[in-house]
Amino acid sequence: MSKKTHPKKIYLPEEKLPKTWYNIVADMPNKPLPPLHPATKQPVGPDDLAPLFPVELIMQEVTQERYVDIPEPVREIYKIWRPSPLIRAYELEKALDTPAKIYYKYEGVSPAGSHKPNTAVAQAFYNAREGVKKITTETGAGQWGSALSYATQLFDIELQVFMVKVSYNQKPYRKTMMNIWKGNVVPSPSNLTETGRKILAEDPDNPGSLGIAISEAIEMAVKDPHTKYSLGSVLNHVLLHQTVIGLEAKEQMEMADAYPDVVIGCFGGGSNFAGISFPFLQDKLTRGKDMRVIAVEPDSCPKLTRGEFRYDFGDTIGMTPLIPMYTLGHNFMPPAIHAGGLRYHGAGAIVSQLLNDGIIEASAVPQLESFEAGILFARTEGIIPAPESTHAVTQTIREAVKAREEGKEITILFNLSGHGHIDLGAYEQYLNKEIHNYSVTDDQIAENLKVLDDMGFPKI
Ligand SMILES: *Cc1c(COP(=O)(O)O)cnc(C)c1O
Repeated sequence: MSKKTHPKKIYLPEEKLPKTWYNIVADMPNKPLPPLHPATKQPVGPDDLAPLFPVELIMQEVTQERYVDIPEPVREIYKIWRPSPLIRAYELEKALDTPAKIYYKYEGVSPAGSHKPNTAVAQAFYNAREGVKKITTETGAGQWGSALSYATQLFDIELQVFMVKVSYNQKPYRKTMMNIWKGNVVPSPSNLTETGRKILAEDPDNPGSLGIAISEAIEMAVKDPHTKYSLGSVLNHVLLHQTVIGLEAKEQMEMADAYPDVVIGCFGGGSNFAGISFPFLQDKLTRGKDMRVIAVEPDSCPKLTRGEFRYDFGDTIGMTPLIPMYTLGHNFMPPAIHAGGLRYHGAGAIVSQLLNDGIIEASAVPQLESFEAGILFARTEGIIPAPESTHAVTQTIREAVKAREEGKEITILFNLSGHGHIDLGAYEQYLNKEIHNYSVTDDQIAENLKVLDDMGFPKI
């Protein structure tokens, strides 16, 4: 009698790399609401976005087509690290003594060490094809800046990164990565823009913020017709590009003769969560598959679990259109947790609609529990997760423990969005017992949201 084998790692052959991305908008019962112009409160059209993005990406932002072709040159670059492995976490299962089967998709195998190159390469490609010579962007902890540096130099595009000044000083290795890939990095506020010069004139020691960095990047892009701007999360086209993760995972789960009861992703602006979950959600939306899909945020930045679904700016300063989002208010200043990629005040339009419609769930995790989960994962599965990814690990552990208590043999799939090799400073603090939990009061949230009432931003 042949014994059924249970492989630990499931590789998809290169020729099975998806040829299209999946656009969930085609299958959503309620389509995402349009972005609005902040002054007129009228829907923003493609023309309004033309100074910032290439035409092809603007079309992807609004398309209702179910599948969008992945250009061949993008697929060729993807093949350097894709298809990424799907791994059965046997060692973690043993440590938790759980009947649950745990699978994870590992995106840390990319050049920048996270899922972000999946969209960075696509965005650089479309910009290059439309003759764009230079791209600007902002970066907080530096993950997006390094992914986009890698991608733009492949297509001979110059890149200017505005990196929040405190992070620039705290994370020198991210800057080195960007420089290796030819990215120009300045601490923001900088003297390259009017916004930056004005802030520095008033306050030379200003530590910077993501909002200021966005303003500087947008200002530089709109002032030059050959320069465009790029964003690494939140927008529909970014989520679209990341679905390559879930499309591969679906094939790999089939190879393992498994299907998830629960799909989990950590949540900053929503791109890796969308990437792992949307292709599975298609089965829930179109074939009535019963499955839970959980977005995991830090409890210090709880827009999905405690925010409000309404129109708000995508940035802190107010340069973007009004986006229909679960938000804590654009003025919300999240505590300085180590999962820098999850410190964002809002969620994208698609994910917000799905949450509002009860198609997905959200959960919030305290910082200490997330590091404990990261350490357990490193000691069992071997990989040291990025501080952002530990949030997905935490929820996975919670579900696996619940499965043990209830005696249920469920299958869990989560996305390990990146490795933590450039974030070891955070782990060192954890080992030195210097990591704390932060709490956010209801009053703080209400106060921030009241600003939106005062500004007359529509509720949904
Ligand atoms: C940026 C980042 C995130 C958060 O961004 P999303 O758009 O929500 O995916 C999560 N994990 C890692 C490793 C990141 O670099």
